[in-house]
Amino acid sequence: MARIFNFSAGPSMLPVETLQEAAEKLVEFDNTGMSLIEMSHRGKTYESVHNETISLVRELLAVPNNYHILLLQGGATLQFGMVPLAFLRQGTTASYILTGSWAKKAHDDAKIVGTTSVIWDGKADNYTRIPAQSELNIPSDAAYVHICSNETIGGIQWATFPDTGGVPLIADMSSDILSRPLPWDKIDMVYAGTQKNLAPAGMALVIMSDRLAKAARTDLPAYLRYDLHIQNNSLYNTPPSFVVWMTGLTLKWVKSIGGLQEIERRRDEKARMLYGMIDCSGGFYRNPVDKESRSMMNVVWRLPSEELEEKFIKEAKQEGLDGLKGHRSVGGCRASIYNAMPLAGVKALVQFMKHFMAKNG
Ligand SMILES: *Cc1c(COP(=O)(O)O)cnc(C)c1O
Repeated sequence: MARIFNFSAGPSMLPVETLQEAAEKLVEFDNTGMSLIEMSHRGKTYESVHNETISLVRELLAVPNNYHILLLQGGATLQFGMVPLAFLRQGTTASYILTGSWAKKAHDDAKIVGTTSVIWDGKADNYTRIPAQSELNIPSDAAYVHICSNETIGGIQWATFPDTGGVPLIADMSSDILSRPLPWDKIDMVYAGTQKNLAPAGMALVIMSDRLAKAARTDLPAYLRYDLHIQNNSLYNTPPSFVVWMTGLTLKWVKSIGGLQEIERRRDEKARMLYGMIDCSGGFYRNPVDKESRSMMNVVWRLPSEELEEKFIKEAKQEGLDGLKGHRSVGGCRASIYNAMPLAGVKALVQFMKHFMAKNG
């Protein structure tokens, strides 16, 4: 069995070490006579897996002690609704920054719940850039400011987090969580679906400051209450134990290779190589986004025609380079180079791009 290079945007490649350890222990976990996914989530064995995952998140992302770490179901999409339900009270307004498809989806849900204001919208530039700090006018009485730190479809990313002048900043980090250290002094909450950089689908990692948690509404149905999840250490109801376990295995792998410092170094090397190929192709491959706003996780490009794009994707797949089709809403090509994508995968892709250009350029 040979594993190919899978450039899918999500669910996406996981470290082979994560998959192997899970496979090894799936049928019987640590001399318990059963699988971890068959046992009570109220027992000691599961509890220690659960707590280890949470403490690895705290350690690797250097999460301060006055922040809560939650493991919730419903993916990032449930957070689109849970955030305004908890924090957008009547008489207040939440500020949204629209940088692409995902930020817009979060905003669409917030509009259903309460009053929002769009303080910046990248529509005029077709969502190809991140705003500069000087373009942001953040009302000091906003309930919160919401951003998407990496637009998975458009391929743009906030290189630095905006300064919101004390208004709580909430970031959807679904496609760049665990890819860089975070400036907690600027951030009150991040959330991320697990299926891109952490684990299989089925969970969201949520990290929230205590000051924000204290502002969360409590007169909501149980699952929508952050306070209940915090009080119960994300064990209010049955947790997605398999995903929690796999997340922990991925975090252990990150730690074993040298933590976020090494992850960032690898990330930069992979992204530099791929953008370098695009930039030296004389326009054959074209990255449509502003250079300063380029995503280090999802690299998008166009070819001279849609026919060539189709041919490129088909022939790449025959070479074991899969998942390179751009999102159906925008077309073109996209390589998602999350933490688990090895440098060898990007090297193979760049080689293929060179050959393809020589034959078709
Ligand atoms: C994939 C993705 C989502 C959706 O995540 P689900 O877990 O499927 O709900 C939200 N935001 C961003 C930035 C994403 O990349």
